[in-house]
Amino acid sequence: MIRLQGIAVSPGVAIGKASVFNSEGHQITVSHCSSEKAAGEVSRLRDAVQAAMQDISESRDSVAQSMGKQYGAIFEGHLVMLQDQKLYETMENAVMKDHFTAEYAVYKTLHGYAQVFQSIQDAFMAERANDILDLEKRILRILLKEKRQLQQFTEPVVVFARNLTPSETASMDTKFVQAFATELGGPTSHTAIVAEALRIPAVVGVGNFLERVNAGEVVIVDGDAGVVILNPDQATLNRYCLIEMQKKSLDVRLESLRDLPALTIDGTPVQLLGNIEFPQEADSCMESGAEGIGLYRTEFLYLSGSIPDEEDHFHAYRQVIEAMKGKPVTIRTVDLGADKLIERPVSMRNTKKTDLGYYIEEEKNPCLGLRSIRLSLKRIELFRKQLRAILRAGVFGPVKVMFPLVSTISEWRQAHMIVEDVKEDLSERGIPYASDVDLGIMVEVPSVVLMIEHFAKEVDFFSIGTNDLTQYTLAVDRTNKDVFYLYNSCDPVILKLLSMTIHAATQHRRPVSLCGQMSGSPWCTMLLLGLGLRTLSVSPGAIPEIKRVCRRVNLAQCKAVAARALQMEKASEVRNYLLSEYRKLFPDLDVEVS
Ligand code: PEP
Ligand code: MG
Repeated sequence: MIRLQGIAVSPGVAIGKASVFNSEGHQITVSHCSSEKAAGEVSRLRDAVQAAMQDISESRDSVAQSMGKQYGAIFEGHLVMLQDQKLYETMENAVMKDHFTAEYAVYKTLHGYAQVFQSIQDAFMAERANDILDLEKRILRILLKEKRQLQQFTEPVVVFARNLTPSETASMDTKFVQAFATELGGPTSHTAIVAEALRIPAVVGVGNFLERVNAGEVVIVDGDAGVVILNPDQATLNRYCLIEMQKKSLDVRLESLRDLPALTIDGTPVQLLGNIEFPQEADSCMESGAEGIGLYRTEFLYLSGSIPDEEDHFHAYRQVIEAMKGKPVTIRTVDLGADKLIERPVSMRNTKKTDLGYYIEEEKNPCLGLRSIRLSLKRIELFRKQLRAILRAGVFGPVKVMFPLVSTISEWRQAHMIVEDVKEDLSERGIPYASDVDLGIMVEVPSVVLMIEHFAKEVDFFSIGTNDLTQYTLAVDRTNKDVFYLYNSCDPVILKLLSMTIHAATQHRRPVSLCGQMSGSPWCTMLLLGLGLRTLSVSPGAIPEIKRVCRRVNLAQCKAVAARALQMEKASEVRNYLLSEYRKLFPDLDVEVS
């Protein structure tokens, strides 16, 4: 048995068989496709070959530029081989006639050619064989990266991978993927957030472990404690079965809170809203008793790699607004960039840098680059399209619009002006829309907190995004496991920023909520209420637990907790203190937090 510690990012426990996805070492087995799918496979093959040619030409040019033309010529040979029509036809025939998948057609053809060269006892030929194997690897890497076969399971599995992109996570078939664990990744990366949205238990940042796993062996992923266990012994299996049973009984108890208000003992109402990624999650919000949606992340519309049109936006928003049956929905305009990258589909790799994703993909320092509201303000037509859709969908129920990653007041004013302009445009064209829509900003950058008094005079509401506020204040990449020890939303400096924001918002009578992952941690609830928050937006699955805390505390107690935490110097001190206060509230609870 091997026990590994990682970072817990999506709660729940799964016991199942390991399926390992190593970025390079995919096992290729003979695999066929049906005759109806052959045309699709040929187009995948063609795109992958083109993408490989594009990669090779880029490598050639950059090597030629940095080291000289003769070095670039090394790649020229690869390019010539790949341009060989006969070689391509052999691969295409393997798909069209023998109905092999694109991957197997590439493997069979190129491996076959390489073997022929290897069989000729000649150093020059041996070199050519290596070149062919290199090409094979390159094309397979493109094909397998494109699919990574995360949707193709036929039985329950626990996925282990070096890393998973948000779009790979979003495409997982939740019928079969019981849990996942990755070597890389940080606590509030978009991948982690998507896992929580899909309710897949997940652990990230485990460090190198894939080589120690035997595919198919029994493993445990504990998304509450951030633990991965390989080949567990019987005693451990029994313990985890017991934990699963206890969890189920707690869920039943929490379920009974569903229709009760989130009211503190002294009668202070707390508004609990849901954070969602996908339109279908609106139903989970209703089921868990959310009073509305405090954060509707809209990046999912871009996950396929293509740019959504106005109707795609509109249908997604209308679906959520209608599902919420009159409860308010706060739609955040796209927050693309940094950990919310969109990948360029293989079929578009060799097109010019003309569109949204490409700007982001080529960023040198994406967290500080052209992302979020900055991108919307640069690509105004795309921004207007999204705003038009939100305002039109607002006819079907109450909506608010929220701008992500605002860092200056001018950005906010510009975004505000564009909304007004879009309204005018809709009026002129006689298109029905919601004219009375509140506009707010995310508080995610320290510069906004320092200028909060100015913002408070103009914006309709604030929502604090502690995931990014922590990243930008402490200069810690939220996706990087190696600096995870520095990333803590309970750091006293973050508490000071929260306090300043809440104070200014309250003074100016502007609603303020918190929608970062911190608001979903029940052991932070007392602190947040004590700091003055009365609205928390959390993933729908966390609502019952947060409600349970609200109903167990009184405000004076919360204020005392916040006052004491604000005096502390270190994040670890605050965290330990909050955990101990939480344990006092629920002494029967086995609180294990990674
Ligand atoms: C945040 O930064 O806290 C937030 C809620 O936004 P996201 O996690 O989507 O960046
Ligand atoms: Mg954010």
